[in-house]
Amino acid sequence: MTHHERLIELLRSHVLVPLLGIRRHVMSALALLFVTAVVVLALDARLPFPRPGERILYDPTDWSLLLPGHGRTTAEPRHFAVSDGSIGGGSTTQAPLSVLLYRAKPGDTIGSVATKLGLSMDTVSSMNRVQGRGVHNVRVGELLKIPTEDGIFLTLTGDLNAMCSVRKVAPEDVLAANGITRDQLTQGMLLFFPGVQHTGFELALANGVGVALPIHGYESSPFGRRLDPFTGEPSRHSGVDIAAPEGSQIRSGTDGRVIAAQYDATLGNYVQVQGQVGFSYVYGHMSQILTHVGAVISTGQVIGLVGHTGYATGPHLHFEIRKNGVPINPNNYLPGIR
Ligand SMILES: [Zn+2]
Repeated sequence: MTHHERLIELLRSHVLVPLLGIRRHVMSALALLFVTAVVVLALDARLPFPRPGERILYDPTDWSLLLPGHGRTTAEPRHFAVSDGSIGGGSTTQAPLSVLLYRAKPGDTIGSVATKLGLSMDTVSSMNRVQGRGVHNVRVGELLKIPTEDGIFLTLTGDLNAMCSVRKVAPEDVLAANGITRDQLTQGMLLFFPGVQHTGFELALANGVGVALPIHGYESSPFGRRLDPFTGEPSRHSGVDIAAPEGSQIRSGTDGRVIAAQYDATLGNYVQVQGQVGFSYVYGHMSQILTHVGAVISTGQVIGLVGHTGYATGPHLHFEIRKNGVPINPNNYLPGIR
């Protein structure tokens, strides 16, 4: 090898090969950039671009206009006005109510959907749940009805003017929102009251926070159909069982007045608390009762200790919610049992 040849070889191995290597890296980086750009553009093309200043809260494909006969249940009024898509120009008259459908995604709650859409939770829960029932449970894929403004549905009982005066809304606005005239009113019909919200305990119930968890524990037996823990026969469970160590403190889930504090062959030592708007609460199988009939109690107050008195296989709290005397599913009102 001559000196010249050695120089070329040196150049090749120390300059040309590394340069080629760098070029290969640059090429693959460029190729990657190109592929990324194509993918991003392709994904982007699926969504319409928002106009400047416009906020798109959800993929618009999640929405569909509520058409007559779609997504209704018997509990809803028969006279939704469906938006014709026109845009009002500064009119101050009450517009007929429009309702959009939103398909629930993983992680959605009634509250989070309401917040994102600038509506109150009361509005969204009132429209999709009967008096707060199941506010804590939103099924993925469930179609939630979203009105175009805040308000609640109320059953027409008595005079519309009287109801409007209590709820502080103009009767004309209620009629306009529902797209009906005064002579179309019938007793018992559900009417949308624009701008109106629940208050007090009604509001707490509508938002699913009307009842606090009386004890921490796990649900050992749910409400509804189950096999009898002793006989194995099919039976109905009128409450929810929350397993907890013997002697744990049981706290009242609501404000109210104690209307029963005694022993029963089935419920064992139990306490019944009369709450508001027709609701009462039963706490069963206590080892010890720590209140008395007539006591006025508040949420969180200790009323007894966990036991297994009466018809019980082990220490747990049997918790019942009764509406006008009829047991209903406590899970629809409790903020969550693990
Ligand atoms: Zn039970």
